[in-house]
Amino acid sequence: MKYLIIGASAAGLSCARTLRRLDSNGEIVVISKDDMVYSRCMLHYFISDDRPLDKMRFVEEDFFDKNKVKWIRNTAVIEIRPFNKSVVTSDGAEHTYDKLLIATGATPVIPPIEGLAEGIEKRKDIFTLRDIGDAIKIKEAAKTSRQAVVIGGGLIGLDVAVSLNKQGVKVTVIEMKDHILPQQLDKTAAQRYERIFKDNGIDIITGQAVSNVIYGLSGKVKGVTLSDGSFVFADMIVVAVGVKPSFPRIDKCDLEIENGIIVDQYQRTSIQDIYAAGDACQSYELLTQRHILTPIWPSAVKQGQTAAYNMAGIGKPLIDNFGFKNSMKFFGLSTISYGYVEPPDNSYNVAICSGPNYYYKVVYKENVLYGAIIQGDISGAGVVGKLIQNKCNLSNKLVRNDWNNVFRLTYGDFFKQNQDGTFEFAC
Ligand SMILES: Cc1cc2nc3c(=O)[nH]c(=O)nc-3n(C[C@H](O)[C@H](O)[C@H](O)COP(=O)(O)OP(=O)(O)OC[C@H]3O[C@@H](n4cnc5c(N)ncnc54)[C@H](O)[C@@H]3O)c2cc1C
Repeated sequence: MKYLIIGASAAGLSCARTLRRLDSNGEIVVISKDDMVYSRCMLHYFISDDRPLDKMRFVEEDFFDKNKVKWIRNTAVIEIRPFNKSVVTSDGAEHTYDKLLIATGATPVIPPIEGLAEGIEKRKDIFTLRDIGDAIKIKEAAKTSRQAVVIGGGLIGLDVAVSLNKQGVKVTVIEMKDHILPQQLDKTAAQRYERIFKDNGIDIITGQAVSNVIYGLSGKVKGVTLSDGSFVFADMIVVAVGVKPSFPRIDKCDLEIENGIIVDQYQRTSIQDIYAAGDACQSYELLTQRHILTPIWPSAVKQGQTAAYNMAGIGKPLIDNFGFKNSMKFFGLSTISYGYVEPPDNSYNVAICSGPNYYYKVVYKENVLYGAIIQGDISGAGVVGKLIQNKCNLSNKLVRNDWNNVFRLTYGDFFKQNQDGTFEFAC
């Protein structure tokens, strides 16, 4: 059996590792544009000098040898040919497969802002952050920049803002929504961060879109204008407004694609023997009970592992693809959020418990939790997350009469002892 995997990151390598465990004789080939293995989640630590390149690897140094995986690196797949069961690479070579995994990730979205797209193509002072090449360029630019604008106040934008701030660059983050981290937090939790960022010298502008990029006579970036007509000076810009799935051209029109490649719970695409996993795919998600993009590292890993089982012929569905878990820590303040951070409609209720150093909120409906924000002391976040992911019914628990008691629940409230003496989480 020949397994071909496109992509050497979270999804691709977790698939390769699992395949080797399940099939000791199969031929496993990984092809990637990357020529090194690193975690994208650490790119901002590289920019801020907190993590050298050689400490960003997330697999063992001898991963490929140890697992007998052939790695064709620094090579792009430019076309998939399902009729021939092959892929064509940028050097013109054709590689065949019995089972193929597409784990090609995503690329940054470039918003339609006047002057932005051509600036990214031609200049050295506008960037996105997706791979190590981007991080190297941003770090280099930070050495000579005085002031940066970061477009987008999501997790990646804020990570970049903090790392540039650490490098001595004055940063302004511009977020279109009325608060930063709009997908991860509600306004109250986000505003705590906005205050902390400002106290640490990072300006945050919310409720304003960037409408134009302005260049000086030398052709270098001079700044941006906002929707209210105001101008923000910048000699470098980082765009961080989200990602979209990315995959090679496929020489067949019946691959089902919506926002990403649609897969079933076995990570199968609509074409036989082709699987997809990670940021490139759109998969069944537990909380929303819909096929959506789940562009986070843990989902990519689980999807890669699930694909491996099914590529190896062991039918195994992915049953816990939960796409809404975020953890963050900026300037010492930690937060974990799960699921819905605002009630999606008025059939849901909210319970909040807060003080100067903490903010806890849950969104619930009919004795089941659907979302939470745990900010400050996050030691109770694990159990809340478990209750949400397992959709536990809390009608028999402490919370029956007072939902504020939900913040007092512990794992101990849910452990059940098995016949053999072991404990398991049960609700
Ligand atoms: C700056 C940053 C910070 C992040 N922080 C977090 C975080 O804190 N927590 C979290 O959960 N997630 C985080 N993420 C998201 C997380 O990194 C992704 O969800 C994860 O990397 C997706 O893994 P993947 O394997 O699907 O794709 P990717 O990691 O994007 O890897 C894609 C692979 O495919 C290869 N490839 C692409 N196209 C081709 C082609 N045509 N031919 C050959 N090879 C190709 C690439 O070279 C690469 O090896 C962050 C992302 C970024 C960019």
